[in-house]
Amino acid sequence: MRIVVLGAGVIGVTTAHALAVRGHDVVVIEAESGPALGTSFANGAQISPSEAVPWASPAALRLAMGWMRSGNAPFRLNLRAEPHQWAWLTEFVRNCTDARWQRNAPAMVALATHSRHCLLELNDRYDIDYAREQCGILRIFQRMEQAHAEQAHIGGVMAAHDVPLEILDADACVALEPALADAVAAGRVGAGLLAPEDETGDAQAFSVGLAREAVAAGVTFRFGEQVRRINAFCDHVTGVVTDTREVRADRVVVALGTASVDLMRSIGVSLPIYPVKGYSATLPVRGSNSAPRVSITDQSGRFVVSRLGDRVRVAGKADIIGHGRDIDPARAANVLDNLFGLFPNVGNRHDATVWSGLRPMTPSGIPLIGESDMQGLYLNTGHGSLGWTMAAGSADLLADLISGTRPRIDPAPYAP
Ligand SMILES: Cc1cc2nc3c(=O)[nH]c(=O)nc-3n(C[C@H](O)[C@H](O)[C@H](O)COP(=O)(O)OP(=O)(O)OC[C@H]3O[C@@H](n4cnc5c(N)ncnc54)[C@H](O)[C@@H]3O)c2cc1C
Repeated sequence: MRIVVLGAGVIGVTTAHALAVRGHDVVVIEAESGPALGTSFANGAQISPSEAVPWASPAALRLAMGWMRSGNAPFRLNLRAEPHQWAWLTEFVRNCTDARWQRNAPAMVALATHSRHCLLELNDRYDIDYAREQCGILRIFQRMEQAHAEQAHIGGVMAAHDVPLEILDADACVALEPALADAVAAGRVGAGLLAPEDETGDAQAFSVGLAREAVAAGVTFRFGEQVRRINAFCDHVTGVVTDTREVRADRVVVALGTASVDLMRSIGVSLPIYPVKGYSATLPVRGSNSAPRVSITDQSGRFVVSRLGDRVRVAGKADIIGHGRDIDPARAANVLDNLFGLFPNVGNRHDATVWSGLRPMTPSGIPLIGESDMQGLYLNTGHGSLGWTMAAGSADLLADLISGTRPRIDPAPYAP
């Protein structure tokens, strides 16, 4: 079958590879000059099934109200005269019930753990250098009761999917990650919740490496080509039109991240995806003990720190303010403040490269994977804050669906 995959972010690349190894003839069309130059470029680097739970929860609204009063808060909302934003927010609020959380969280964790399994398979098969660290992810809290509360909140769904979690006191946090010593001494960290099987790695480097393997498996990448339109005949997709040519296909996969919305809107389909902007800053590490090897999630500040070889990256912020990727200097500076607040000697602030990206978020947190209303037109998008975590598993699931093979996880929760 001739399949065109739209987008070469981490989702498009993993999808193209999964389809090629199943014997399909695959072409990837990407507007940028290489793989993973959009949201997959400089994300938080965490592969975190232990954090694959919905943002929409009963606590989310209360937290968001508090955050909206502070300029440096992890969350920012600018209401716009944009029906799509209002519809998305309304749906997000509808997902903030306990009943919805109990329904959404297992679907997300199931996909994330399946994805970890698929990523292990890819690592067994290929030797891709993406600064992988298998040291776990440690969520840090100021007080022990906060760690216990978090474990009570997510422990059930994690246990049901074999995601181990361990509570650590302050001393155990430092024993695990000596770079936390200053933060513990300053009273910033009093407890931790460790997910020992979670890992980290550079999503862009991985995408570049896997794209190379995909080419070896027969995939053609067309970079620098912008998809303009989907072609169809009698409700069946027949291909796409780009800025330079028409491409015929038996199947088309939309993996355009936040840009999926506009393309699908052009055929009358409204996707429940809104861009949630985040920031990251990446800098060279000063000395080997000043930066963590264990990835850190600061639960109250809502930021993450990951080691990428001789670099360290901090990522955070969730700004629902529209589609722009311009960098707000105050938001970027605050992300760096978060890093240096926790690891004062980590490196030189002036060496940091600051970046922003748009998370393709659905209100429920569950991505859209499967065939759309148009025959032959498939979606693999809407992975929000977990696209790196869920990429390999989402690709495996969609490739099985397209190939008519029985998927290894239940596809129903992700059906568009
Ligand atoms: C600050 C931040 C931190 C994050 N941290 C993590 C993390 O720690 N762990 C995790 O799992 N996830 C994380 N994420 C989320 C993750 O990065 C995303 O879910 C993931 O990158 C989405 O991948 P994608 O392939 O769907 O989108 P993208 O990477 O954006 O890929 C879409 C591609 O489509 C291309 N495109 C768009 N329009 C067109 C067109 N018309 N024609 C051709 N090509 C087009 C774009 O150029 C782009 O390359 C984070 C995100 C942010 C912003």
